[in-house]
Amino acid sequence: MNDADWVGIENEAASVLSRYIQIDTTNPPGNEREGAEFLGDWLSGESIPVTMYHPVPDRANLLAVLKGDGSRSPVLLLHHIDVVPAAGERWSRDPFGGVVEDGHVWGRGAIDNKSLGVMHLMAFALLRRQSVRLKRDVMMLAVSDEEMGGAVGSKWMIDNHWDDIRSEYLWDEGGVGTLGIVGDRPVFAVSVSEKRSVVVILRAGGAGGHGSMAANAPVERLLAALECLRGWSGSVELGPVTIEFLTRLSKTQSFPASWLMRNASRPWGRPLVVGKLSAIPSIDAMLRDTIRVTMLRAGDSANVSPDIAEAVLDVRLLPGTDQGGFLQLVRDVIDDETIEVQATEALTGGAASPSDSDFFRALEQAVLGSSPDAIVTPIQTPVATDSRFFRQRGVKAYGINPGIFTQSEIETIHGVDERISLRNLGMGTRIVYESLLDLCG
Ligand SMILES: [Zn+2]
Repeated sequence: MNDADWVGIENEAASVLSRYIQIDTTNPPGNEREGAEFLGDWLSGESIPVTMYHPVPDRANLLAVLKGDGSRSPVLLLHHIDVVPAAGERWSRDPFGGVVEDGHVWGRGAIDNKSLGVMHLMAFALLRRQSVRLKRDVMMLAVSDEEMGGAVGSKWMIDNHWDDIRSEYLWDEGGVGTLGIVGDRPVFAVSVSEKRSVVVILRAGGAGGHGSMAANAPVERLLAALECLRGWSGSVELGPVTIEFLTRLSKTQSFPASWLMRNASRPWGRPLVVGKLSAIPSIDAMLRDTIRVTMLRAGDSANVSPDIAEAVLDVRLLPGTDQGGFLQLVRDVIDDETIEVQATEALTGGAASPSDSDFFRALEQAVLGSSPDAIVTPIQTPVATDSRFFRQRGVKAYGINPGIFTQSEIETIHGVDERISLRNLGMGTRIVYESLLDLCG
C-alpha cells in the first residue's frame, strides 16, 4: 500500500471512530450491545462474518475471525467497548459527539479504548481487502465490561468460550507511545506485565453517639488510621521487566544518565536512578506498591457520630508482593487493632510476556517503519487490564495503543477532553497492519 492509500485509511478510521464514540457505552451500565452491533454491521459490510455472544441482555461480546492456513497459532486483537463516565465533567466538546476538529477526534473512548478497537478493525479489514494469505488465524474480539472488572467481558469469554478465542498472542491495551516524557525520542512502552489491583476496606466500628459528646468515635479512629497510611510509601523494587525498560530507555539519554540507567540495579547506581525516575508519577507507579484512598463512607446526620466508618483503598501490588504480607503491613502501619482490614482477592497474574518473541519483534519493526528513531520497550504497567485473564491462561499478551501521545493527551484518559489526533489514528492503524503482515503473512 502506498502513502496516498494510508491518508485515505486515516480518514476512514476517523469517521469510524467518530461514529463509535457517538454510541454511549458508559459503564455502568455499559450498554455495549449497541457498540458491538455497530462493529458487527461494519464488518459485515466488509464481508467478514461475526459471532455475537450475549452474557446478559444489552451487553455483548463480538468475535470476528480471518482464517489462516493453520501452520502457526492464532493471534487475538482485543479491545473493550465500554468507557468510563463523563457525566458532570466540563468538556470543551460533547463527550459523545464524536466531533472531528483541530486534527483530532474528540470524545470519551477516543484513546481508551475505542481508538485501539478502530486500529484493530481497520487493519483486520485491510488484510481482507488485500487478500493477504495468513499463516495464523487473526481474530478480533470486542468485549464488554473491562472498566468494571470484566465479569461479563473477557473473563466470561475465557470461562465460557475459551475454544473460540484460544490464541498464542494477544494484542491488548496497557501501554502507549509517548514523546517528551522521558528523553527526546518517541518511546513505545509495551505492557508485558501488570500490577495486581486489590480493593482494601478499612472499617472502624463501635459506639457512636450524640455529636456533642462522642470521643474516639469510629470516624476519628478511621481518620487517624488514614493519616498513618498517608505517610507510608512502598519501597522501590526493580524487577526484570523494569531493568529491561531502563536499559532500553537509556538510549534516550546522554551520558552520564544513560550509563546510570544501564546500571540501575547496581547498588551505586540505584539511588540516583530511582530518585530521578520517582519524580515522574507514571514511572514511579511502576516501581512500588501503592495505596490510594478512593472512597469514604460514614454518617448521615450532622449531629450524630456514626457507629461505623469505612474507607476504601485502591491498592496496586507489584507482581512479587505477597498479598497476605501486604495486608499485615497495612495493619502494622495503622497500629489500631479495633480497625478491620479486609481485601478482595487479587488475581495472581501469569508470567510476564517475553520481549524475545515473534510478536514483539514484529511490533518493533512496524514501529520503526513509521517512527525510525523510536525506542520500543517492555514495561510493567501500573494499571489493570484484561490481559491478566489471558496471561493466566498462558497467552503471551502485549498492551499498546501505538500512537505517539504527549503528556497532556495521556492525561485526558479517564479525564476531560479525551481525544486522539488523526495522525496517531493513521499511524496506529498502519503499525497494527504491518505488525500483523509480518507476524501472520
Ligand atoms: Zn481501557
